[in-house]
Amino acid sequence: MMKIHRTHKKTLKSSAGKHSHHRYRSSRKIIHHDDGGGGGGGGNDGWLRITIRGTPYDRGVSHGKQVIATDPARFTYMFSVFDFQFRQGYGRDIDFFYGLCEDFYLGIIKKRFPKIFKEMEGIAAGANLRVCQVILINVFMSLPYFYAHLIRYIDTPKYRKKYADVIRDEYAIAANPAALAARARRLDEMKDRCSLVMAVGEDWTKDGGIVCGHSSFSNFLDAQFCNVILRIEPEAGDGVPMVMQSMPGGVYSMTDFFVTGAGIVGSETTISGFNAFALRDPICCRIRECMQYGRTLEEYAERLQKRNSGDYACSWMFGNVGGRGGGHGGRPPRIMRVELGLNYVNVETTKNGVFLGFNSTYDERIRNIECSSSMSDKANHATGSGAIDGASGFRDVSSSIGNRRVQMEKLTEKYRGRIDTDVMKRILADHYDNHLGKTAANSRTICKHGYADGGEGSTGGGVPFKPVGAYDTKVADSASIRRMSFLAHWGPPCGTAFSVREHMKKHPEWKDWAEYLADFPRRGWVEA
Ligand SMILES: [Zn+2]
Repeated sequence: MMKIHRTHKKTLKSSAGKHSHHRYRSSRKIIHHDDGGGGGGGGNDGWLRITIRGTPYDRGVSHGKQVIATDPARFTYMFSVFDFQFRQGYGRDIDFFYGLCEDFYLGIIKKRFPKIFKEMEGIAAGANLRVCQVILINVFMSLPYFYAHLIRYIDTPKYRKKYADVIRDEYAIAANPAALAARARRLDEMKDRCSLVMAVGEDWTKDGGIVCGHSSFSNFLDAQFCNVILRIEPEAGDGVPMVMQSMPGGVYSMTDFFVTGAGIVGSETTISGFNAFALRDPICCRIRECMQYGRTLEEYAERLQKRNSGDYACSWMFGNVGGRGGGHGGRPPRIMRVELGLNYVNVETTKNGVFLGFNSTYDERIRNIECSSSMSDKANHATGSGAIDGASGFRDVSSSIGNRRVQMEKLTEKYRGRIDTDVMKRILADHYDNHLGKTAANSRTICKHGYADGGEGSTGGGVPFKPVGAYDTKVADSASIRRMSFLAHWGPPCGTAFSVREHMKKHPEWKDWAEYLADFPRRGWVEA
């Protein structure tokens, strides 16, 4: 494969209160990875495989070194993309967010999760990074949640002086409802991220076992980095091994899809518009401890709720393959859904049923109390629709949430009793739009194509032709979970290719994104 070296001149000083704006040299030659993410290739169909074992610190060092060995500029490039994304989304650069990681997350992780912190220190050492950079990678998904409540944590005696400018800005935004709503919409983009189906039992799946499929959505800026298949083998006596989709420097999955040596599969879809937060343990650490130490579904539910921050609030789904051939004493396979709000949590389990994930919750308390109504302007403003589920999208087939919920229900019913991994691939590649009443690959379909959407599938602030959409598929069944493995496809679930150059030719309004994007060529499936 072609080795890419990117050079980004950037000073990494902390500048929490000060405004420091960095511009990259415009003369920089732009080269797009031709196998999707600098790290793929080698017959891995776009995926980068990293296997780490041993003590937490040794694992981390090995992780950092393996990424660097594949592409020495991988982290530099990733941070330059994050910086661009932060400036576009928040108007603040990456140095500001490094500062937040140092001031607010480093202490919590070091004190509460010393082994995870050691692994992070190892990654930093192995890749020649600062530990706050590794923390940033891992709290990247928590930041939009924290940011909306930032004022509560920086307008304090300890930080009032350091963050004086930010405090001024935040109070100005808070005093202006239009500015606050606009900002909430920007932050919400990070909270509306994927499609998920998990089924079990003789009425639903072909063999009665567990079948799970998940497809991640994001803008194609951060999406390009989620092509890591990370295998972690802790020391003997320190939990179970695990395999997950992750990103360079990740200590958890982030997207989320994983299987563990305890015979457990896990995945989630985020809860759109979620807006309740308390700075406690970050989700990266809570879910990583679930994966490493959780032996039962109930332990997962318990650990997720302990010192919950409300960050990356998700509808989590876990499946335990049970006893058949697994030495667990003949227990049947079982799945659990945890709708994890902050103050409201809804846990359901079944041995014969299906759970669907479409970025909202069945729990009325979570979606009506803990979610802001900024997701769907259209639903919000339409006469009579605001009071009863008007804003959550739950019943609104003109929204991505509503269309995907209805379509997933139709498809799982259609394939009832026959669901296997092939069916799951078909469901996740579905393009039916119930609002238009026809097949149309747009931003509201299960296989999301925001980048191809000129407005026909957008509601509530969707911007035409924005490079955003579904960018992967992972499927697992009881047999693969027992092997601690899953099948993975890198790129849009239906196999449609995305070319940066072609897109920018047609939609030049996005061309300043081009140097921060990578292609998704058509690819095959790999076994993780
Ligand atoms: Zn598609």
